[in-house]
Amino acid sequence: MKKLYLLAGLSLLAAPLFAQRTLIHCGNLFDGVGNSLQPQMTVVVEGNKITAIQKGYTNPAGKDAVVDLKSKTVLPGLIDMHVHLESQTRRGGAIDGFTKNVPDVAFQASKYAKTTLLAGFTTVRDLGGSGVNISLRNAINAGLVDGPRILTVGKSIATTGGHADPTNGYRKDLMGDPGPEDGVINSAADARKAVRQRYKDGADLIKITATGGVLSNAKDGSNPQFTEEEVKAVVDAAKDYGFAVAAHAHGAEGMKRAIRAGVQTIEHGTFMDDEAIELFKKHGTYFVPTIIAGKTVADSARMFGYYPALVTPKALAIGPKIQATFGKAYKAGVKIAFGTDAGVYIHGYNAKEFEYMVEAGMPAVEAIKTALLTNAKLLGLDTQIGSIETGKLADIIAVSENPLQNIKTLQTVQFVMKDGKIYKQ
Ligand SMILES: [Zn+2]
Repeated sequence: MKKLYLLAGLSLLAAPLFAQRTLIHCGNLFDGVGNSLQPQMTVVVEGNKITAIQKGYTNPAGKDAVVDLKSKTVLPGLIDMHVHLESQTRRGGAIDGFTKNVPDVAFQASKYAKTTLLAGFTTVRDLGGSGVNISLRNAINAGLVDGPRILTVGKSIATTGGHADPTNGYRKDLMGDPGPEDGVINSAADARKAVRQRYKDGADLIKITATGGVLSNAKDGSNPQFTEEEVKAVVDAAKDYGFAVAAHAHGAEGMKRAIRAGVQTIEHGTFMDDEAIELFKKHGTYFVPTIIAGKTVADSARMFGYYPALVTPKALAIGPKIQATFGKAYKAGVKIAFGTDAGVYIHGYNAKEFEYMVEAGMPAVEAIKTALLTNAKLLGLDTQIGSIETGKLADIIAVSENPLQNIKTLQTVQFVMKDGKIYKQ
């Protein structure tokens, strides 16, 4: 009884706070639906929702809070489909797995989450960590930590010795034999168990490492590492829980197996050939390029001692190729979603990816939209985020210049509102 009374008291207290209207006066509005800017608009926010969009700078009663963005261009909050909030690249960082405790990872992850939000990314898909990313999501949702809305895979799924096997490169007596609980599978039965474990852990979707990768302490960065049967088992089990499956893939063979087995997105896609391009189009699979990660690992690999000896040649061979692959895939009509692999480069620079996409031949308006409704749809959240429309959540950012003319302006976001709350002004 007492508890009920307290709860009722809390909601009464909360009600007037959330009823306040905020009027955002936008010099220009890019709503994420149309392809052009609308000058002199007002976006009305009540609680955590957009309740009206009006022409001109309205403030009829004169008593609502006004956010003056008359000298800015206002856009929907950006969405990044590929981040790793638990970690961040640094010279010699391969040792961190042996020296950092879970709370250390949690504290740094909360910092990276805030950095990401302040860079204008109000929603992200975390494609792999230790599982701290699940607690981070919960802490953000509970208002304990500032960060973007997170959908997370928890721990990625690999095969033994594969890109996301957590004990690659360890001394033999420390390697052990990680299994489905740790995200390492070697059969269809293991695949089902690993997916079900992710469900139990509280993940929102599934990630597999379909081929070798750059930063794992292993020799091959592009070999296929799952049988098609294993990917199929992951995808089928994932369906039972409403999970989409994202597949990391550099090499063409592993990529093709993953596409045929029905994954939603291919991450990186470096060595996609013409047959892979046809499969992307046939199955409607999305390509998440992560150009900035490719460029960063190649640059870092040129610094002596930055990566372990096995990683350096992979970074040099794979990293610089992704931008050209993106250009080719885009021109061939492959569907593109926006994702950057943040953590592989320094968190907060996510919007640099737009510049690289435009450089490779995609018009700015299309590049921006890949990070809006395209991503929102893939996340199953397009009724809530991805555009500035009445009824949607108030995820709103602003930049100084017209991003359709100067894409780099997205790299210095001036205003961030997430879920109706202002984080940067
Ligand atoms: Zn990644």
